[in-house]
Amino acid sequence: MKDLRERLQSVISKIKRAPIIDEKTLNEILRDIQRALLYADVSVDLILQLTNNIKERIRKEKLPPGFSKRELLLKLVYDELIRMLGGEAKYKPLSKTGKTYTMILIGIEGSGKTTTAAKLAYFYKKRGFNTGIVCADNYRPGAYHQLRQLGEQIGVEVYGEANKSAVEIALHGIEYFKKKKIDLIIIDTAGRHKDEEELMKEMDRLIAEVNPDEVVLVLDATIGRQAEKQAEAFNRIAKVRSIIVTKLDGAARGGGALAAVVKTGARISFIGTGEKIDELEIFDPPSFVSKLLGLGDLKALVEKFKSYEELDRKRLEAISKGDFTLVDLLDQLLALRKMGPLKKILDLLPGGYSLPKNFEETSEENVKKWIAIMQSMTKRELLHPEIIDRERMLRIAKGSGTSIRDVKALLKSYRMTKSYLRKFAKQRKKIPLGI
Ligand code: GDP
Ligand code: MG
Repeated sequence: MKDLRERLQSVISKIKRAPIIDEKTLNEILRDIQRALLYADVSVDLILQLTNNIKERIRKEKLPPGFSKRELLLKLVYDELIRMLGGEAKYKPLSKTGKTYTMILIGIEGSGKTTTAAKLAYFYKKRGFNTGIVCADNYRPGAYHQLRQLGEQIGVEVYGEANKSAVEIALHGIEYFKKKKIDLIIIDTAGRHKDEEELMKEMDRLIAEVNPDEVVLVLDATIGRQAEKQAEAFNRIAKVRSIIVTKLDGAARGGGALAAVVKTGARISFIGTGEKIDELEIFDPPSFVSKLLGLGDLKALVEKFKSYEELDRKRLEAISKGDFTLVDLLDQLLALRKMGPLKKILDLLPGGYSLPKNFEETSEENVKKWIAIMQSMTKRELLHPEIIDRERMLRIAKGSGTSIRDVKALLKSYRMTKSYLRKFAKQRKKIPLGI
């Protein structure tokens, strides 16, 4: 992941350094992102999807007041990488239920099953689970020994038997640990077979007999986008509930592996980030992407966007309830020069409401005038227009280069819109609405 991290971080500093974010710079930056992802073995369709999304969003999304285009671009790169890696939601680990939970790890040889079995046992042990590991790998003589050693290191018991079939060992192991009231049983399996088909067949049989609560596929990140095929192949035979992607620490193609797995619709639960027992992390796309982009300061930026979005949403809610101030009107006019968002709110309502006529007929010239008028008002006037007397009107008209008549017309339109919004807010109360 180091290469991808370095490449993406250099894109980020390019965004930060660019004198302006114009079409040319944007295209250059998107090309750099494409190149970085291509090196990480992300498939071309996913890359194009990501850069097209950024391009479209930067064109469409309104720039919140106080934000620069540069900041919006940084935020979009962050957003779209998260989307590519499965979205905001973080995997929720198991919680204790009082019942024994069984988990079986499958995957090809060398993918990291045995190491991961021990890592998982350790992870849950730290969270207060009694854990036990069953070594159902009867192919490799050293397998049981390897697990025993790992188990000793973390104080977790390992169950194994010689000269038995994997199914027998797994069933005996479950029985053994259930008697001990173990919370979580992790079954490690073999991955060595003469071909993939044989392995699939055996896993199919094993899972049918053992009937675990969860089938976990362990995938090696170094295979890059091939992970998609592997995930699909395993998913055909067994209902894979979650995927653990290992060796992300060294894998140049790790990004490609993660994106490919996400593409199959599978859930990545954990990632392996080293050989050591505690090098297992819950997969959390936002924090993963933050690390990838190396953005301590991006975090603050993202928070800033979030709080703005929240504010915006709250304002929209308030407006839809009829709580509409001149400040909102000014915001709307400034941001869109049209009554776009207000119209949108109306569109959400049943009954085909439309804007009052005087608003629909608002000409571009009027909009300009209104903006100038409102910009000449004090904050208090904007929030409490009822205090605007003749004297104030005169001042506002002078300040905005308009006439008292214009100021009056604006205030009248505002009052009409407000009472109109109030009216349908009341009506709306009678109609259940999902906004
Ligand atoms: P298995 O055949 O699927 O059971 O795979 P093993 O658990 O035996 O692991 C194969 C090799 O990969 C071992 O050398 C492990 O130390 C190594 N390995 C497993 N997980 C990781 C990881 O997250 N990072 C790194 N760097 N190595 C890992
Ligand atoms: Mg193994």
